[in-house]
Amino acid sequence: MKIINPATEELITEVQEDSYDSVDEKFRLLQAAQPAWQEVALEKRIEVLKRFALLLDQHNEQLAVVLTSEVGKPLQQSRNEIAGARKRIQWLTAHALKYLSDEVMYTENGLEEKIAYEPLGIICNISAWNYPYLVGVNVFVPALLAGNAVMYKPSEYATLTGIEIEKLLKEAGVPADVFHVALGAKETGALLLELPFDGYFFTGSYKTGQYIYERVAPKMVPCQCELGGKDPLYVADDVADIKAVAASTADGAFYNNGQSCCAVERIYVHENVYDQYVDEFIKEVRSWKIGLPKEGGVYIGPLTRKDQLNVLMEQVKDALQKDAALLTGGKPIERKGYYFEPTVLTNVNHDMKVMKEESFGPIIGIMKVHSDDEAVELMKDTEYGLTASVYSSDKARAEKVLKQINAGTGYWNCCDRVSAALPWSGRKHSGFGTTLSHAGLQAFVKPKAYHLKTS
Ligand code: NAD
Repeated sequence: MKIINPATEELITEVQEDSYDSVDEKFRLLQAAQPAWQEVALEKRIEVLKRFALLLDQHNEQLAVVLTSEVGKPLQQSRNEIAGARKRIQWLTAHALKYLSDEVMYTENGLEEKIAYEPLGIICNISAWNYPYLVGVNVFVPALLAGNAVMYKPSEYATLTGIEIEKLLKEAGVPADVFHVALGAKETGALLLELPFDGYFFTGSYKTGQYIYERVAPKMVPCQCELGGKDPLYVADDVADIKAVAASTADGAFYNNGQSCCAVERIYVHENVYDQYVDEFIKEVRSWKIGLPKEGGVYIGPLTRKDQLNVLMEQVKDALQKDAALLTGGKPIERKGYYFEPTVLTNVNHDMKVMKEESFGPIIGIMKVHSDDEAVELMKDTEYGLTASVYSSDKARAEKVLKQINAGTGYWNCCDRVSAALPWSGRKHSGFGTTLSHAGLQAFVKPKAYHLKTS
């Protein structure tokens, strides 16, 4: 498998993909090693994962360089991601004892009723490339804390990062056969679906998630899917500082080149502040430095996948054919690498792909609305349900809007953020199941009920 730098289109290295035999062998090794890992005291497993977090910190710069080389995100954003992963591990390790220890529910008259949290067993984690540390950590850290063994399949676009993760987990003290990496593209993912894992945790697109869910269903084991989004954002007419709102929301749409599962994908603005908002938004977008992701100050680098350029061109073409206005950007940048101009479209509507289909790139549609009710109707008009956000100086007004949206996360005066303390979950085509928070720790265990009588 060739690993290509998306900023230069140069070959970084070649890596041997896994075959059916090699994943089968790794699966057997995981199966043999898991029972002993489950017997290791939870406190010890927590120590191991804490060491992993420390190693991420110590190697941040080198890991960031590897990540940037293969996915193309600006170096500072790679550093931020690794630091963010360390923080998530800190939360998970700090709360593991509370949520994974046995719970005694009742003790009276010689009867004890208790819940024990047993690991699922061997976990299959098929992962995405856009935040390989963050979405990886969401799964394999709580899985390991809970005493599972893990087969981690990094995306083919984040292969080298997957290899680094494996190295550091083992250095931290995860036993050699408790964590294995399966390398390759969708063919490797398909091989994993053939094996009898005890749980499947997938992060990626709706299309692949639906396929995986269908394939896993007959196995009758837990399956979670964290999928895409078309996340809406509404700017109400009582915002205090439009310039600051424009800067914050533009960042929510374009951070990581728009390749975030919870990126702002469509914006609705109240007519009373629309013109000023769009002016400030465009100024912000035009101020960004575009360039090689390893250069200081660069905010827009290349997309990770070449194919996505076609998706974005098609969305722009479709919108312009239906009378959208192109305020800036609109096409690939003529240079080596998979660059696309940061693109802002107005006069958009819901007949256009840019307002209905996940863009996953540096492109946004901004639509004028006349009321909160109209904003709500438009925000609700989607197959997806990952996040939604409202900017307003009135918390009650914002919450009234957010309550009506069927999404796993609501934001007031912020967007495109994830907290380890809160459940991360999608609705509708954004998936099902939860990572992070107490629910994310308990996603990797099966509760066993004990009825214990002294006589
Ligand atoms: P993808 O669906 O193309 O690939 C995801 C993973 O699945 C990769 O490892 C890939 O090799 C594997 N895969 C692909 N086809 C497969 C098959 N037939 N069988 C088994 N495995 C297969 O997605 P992607 O491009 O890596 O990620 C982008 C998508 O992920 C976007 O839609 C984004 O919104 C979503 N995402 C969601 C979250 C979330 O938390 N909800 C987080 C990150 C990314």
